[in-house]
Amino acid sequence: MDYSRRDFLKASLACASSLLLAPGAALSQDKSDPSSSPSVALSKHPAQFYKKLDGSRIQCQLCPRECIVPEGERGYCRVRENQKGEYFSIVYGRPCTYHVDPIEKKPFYHFMPGTTAFSLAAAGCNMHCKFCQNWQISQPKPEELRTFDLPPSDCVSMARKSRCSSIAITYTEPLVSYEYTSDIAKASSASGLATVVISAGYINTKPLEGLLKHLAAIKIDLKAFDDSYYRKICETTLEPVLDTLKTIKASGVWLEIVNLILPTLNDSVEEHKRMFDWILKNLGESVPLHLTRFHPTYRMRNLPPTPQSTLQKLYELAKEMGLNYPYIGNVPGDPASNTYCPKCKKALIIRRGFAINNIGIVHSKCRYCGELIPGIWPDSSESREQTQVG
Ligand code: SF4
Repeated sequence: MDYSRRDFLKASLACASSLLLAPGAALSQDKSDPSSSPSVALSKHPAQFYKKLDGSRIQCQLCPRECIVPEGERGYCRVRENQKGEYFSIVYGRPCTYHVDPIEKKPFYHFMPGTTAFSLAAAGCNMHCKFCQNWQISQPKPEELRTFDLPPSDCVSMARKSRCSSIAITYTEPLVSYEYTSDIAKASSASGLATVVISAGYINTKPLEGLLKHLAAIKIDLKAFDDSYYRKICETTLEPVLDTLKTIKASGVWLEIVNLILPTLNDSVEEHKRMFDWILKNLGESVPLHLTRFHPTYRMRNLPPTPQSTLQKLYELAKEMGLNYPYIGNVPGDPASNTYCPKCKKALIIRRGFAINNIGIVHSKCRYCGELIPGIWPDSSESREQTQVG
């Protein structure tokens, strides 16, 4: 497959404007027009991490749900299917959307700031968060979405043509399309491009460790520090996500965390004291933590947006407790979205929305006092060299 830059832009517009198909709807396709190239198609790619049970049933072992999948059916995430006793990913090479995004949108603040990421998503998620911002593509069955034929090698060539520094697998849950995510990361790193994953972190340790070998960075949503919240709001559990964070820390892959603050549900000081304490003890003081504003969406339209005062209070608490890089997210222009040197307190990166001005990090250090600023910085010959502290 060979895409021109014009084809790419047209296809991006097409998928951005029309992602959802009514079940069973037919697509008229004009093969000469790349903007109509998406189609409804499922793939059949051998899945990893499962065991066979009696009666042609399969037990998926990719994530802690460990779904038992009868013949002809799919697991909870809707993208892994038992066909005659064999297990398949049905979204391999079939993303439902792709775009070029600033890396800050993921958000990553300490990973190649100011660069762009070729960003794509296949359908599917192993959670069901009532506040999902991308529910239109994370929650439908894959056959309800238009998809593109985009094998891993084409992801790399399109990322290069669009002059991206990385490939981001994002918007939905990249871990349930594990084989596609993993093959993109392998193809990408073989060609010198970084791959980053934006995930909720609900995966078993063995597949996670295999994937981490090929990633440059990973962002994990730590949705709350309360198991009952995870169960009620996300239909899942907290403990495996904490295990994931510890595994990532041990791997050395660059990690950033997002905590979306929902008014009245997960915004208490007491809960955040426990969360920050856990992060300090298990991940260290240097992990960037994005305390992010909620906007009403999906099944949580009854709640107001997070008050700025709540975000500010939790941001101050994080700093008081010793986290070096807390941020307020989803509030463009807030000074708490800037990066400050933890030693001399000077502003090092100023952010306005997704635009950045790196005024103070040179060769991974604060230009004013020489403090090492952990991250992967694009500013020098050591641009892909990771510096971690804590
Ligand atoms: S990856 Fe999907 S099918 Fe496998 S255990 Fe998790 S939810 Fe179930």
